[in-house]
Amino acid sequence: MLYDRILVKYGELTVKGKNKYTFIKHTIKTIKEKCKKFPKLEFISHYERFYIMLNGEPHDKVIHALNHVFGLHSYSLSAKCKTDLEKIKELALKIVKEEIKEKTTFKVETKRADKRFPMTSIEVSKNVAAHVLRNTEHLIVDVKNPQVTLQVEIRNEGTYISTKEIKGLGGLPVGIDGNGLLMLSGGIDSPVAGFLMQKRGVALDVIHFSSPPYTSISSKQKVIDLAEKLAYYQHHDKIKVYDVPFTKLQKAIYENCPKSYAITIMRRMMYRIAQSVALKNGNLILANGENVGQVASQTLHSMYAINAVTTMPIIRPVATMDKLEIIKLARKIGTYDISIRPYEDCCTVFIPENPVTRPELEKCIEYENKFSYQQLIDECIQSIDVISVEAGSPLQLVTDDEINHLF
Ligand code: ATP
Ligand code: MG
Repeated sequence: MLYDRILVKYGELTVKGKNKYTFIKHTIKTIKEKCKKFPKLEFISHYERFYIMLNGEPHDKVIHALNHVFGLHSYSLSAKCKTDLEKIKELALKIVKEEIKEKTTFKVETKRADKRFPMTSIEVSKNVAAHVLRNTEHLIVDVKNPQVTLQVEIRNEGTYISTKEIKGLGGLPVGIDGNGLLMLSGGIDSPVAGFLMQKRGVALDVIHFSSPPYTSISSKQKVIDLAEKLAYYQHHDKIKVYDVPFTKLQKAIYENCPKSYAITIMRRMMYRIAQSVALKNGNLILANGENVGQVASQTLHSMYAINAVTTMPIIRPVATMDKLEIIKLARKIGTYDISIRPYEDCCTVFIPENPVTRPELEKCIEYENKFSYQQLIDECIQSIDVISVEAGSPLQLVTDDEINHLF
């Protein structure tokens, strides 16, 4: 293969003013860490460009690793030659012959970062295109809507040529803005909310409330599998899951409070526990997959009554998105198929028939005072099971066959 390197361009980072270099440093650290499985790679940082020398490592796997790094605008496989028109034409032709075997429309796009080069960008593009056309039979120029754009970048250290630019994830490098705690259910929304937090530079831990024996081992497997998908975007591909056994507290709510308030009060308990776990572990914010108006517990009145138990910032990245937009993202990050597995969640097990849609804060407080919930909260926290989930090697609690049987 003629391509011997990957040229990486940063995204939003370049508008970060004085903090730009901190952001670039963090992004580079993340790239190196995600690529540590490939020992022969060499990394070259050159102003606002970053080059990964492949040295024989598999380019598709390296690109797969880059597909999980935030802060990148794009990356392309490229080859380098001397900044000399004849050498540029020669390399462009070789690349085209190797990469494009069928009838294809193309254009050449030149960027001249090295202004000492004696020709304009347009002149270079025309010269290269003419040379390619003269020496091939299957290429047709189309400057408006080409199938392939041959990119020529003239820089003072050399000229880079590439044909495929892969769009990066954008966003900010994960972990640059500290740690958050994601409330992860088995649904479609919360994993997407987690991904969007990571995209804004927030590394995640995950908290999940389960109600054994009412929720099964398959539900736990679902949460582990969802967490594993998010782990690909984390430092060292790892994510920590706090599994909170919630049954006793849930039962106490159902025994002591009116059924119509059960969901509201249950969610107030979840928030209290999540906040306590977050404060203990250095998470600066809570995040969840709430979506305005989606269900009874997500009306504005409900949000007001539920949110009142916390003082921590709570970020709801999918709060205003349409379900279809959320599903599209869930498919993109590979969580959708896991989320639709038909397993029970702790909320669905105890769901009352008529949950209140306009809960009153005073009533929540009045009902909660009927039982000593703090003791039950403390018990929940003491019994948390901490599970470390790693991308690529998820814990297997149930077999694939058992999962397939449920559909
Ligand atoms: P999702 O599709 O994410 O499950 P949902 O539409 O089912 O969301 P709810 O069940 O009302 O909505 O939950 C709203 C949010 O509360 C979830 O997105 C999640 O962040 C959090 N949550 C709900 N159930 C749990 C749970 N068992 N463990 C942890 N967090 C939960
Ligand atoms: Mg849910």
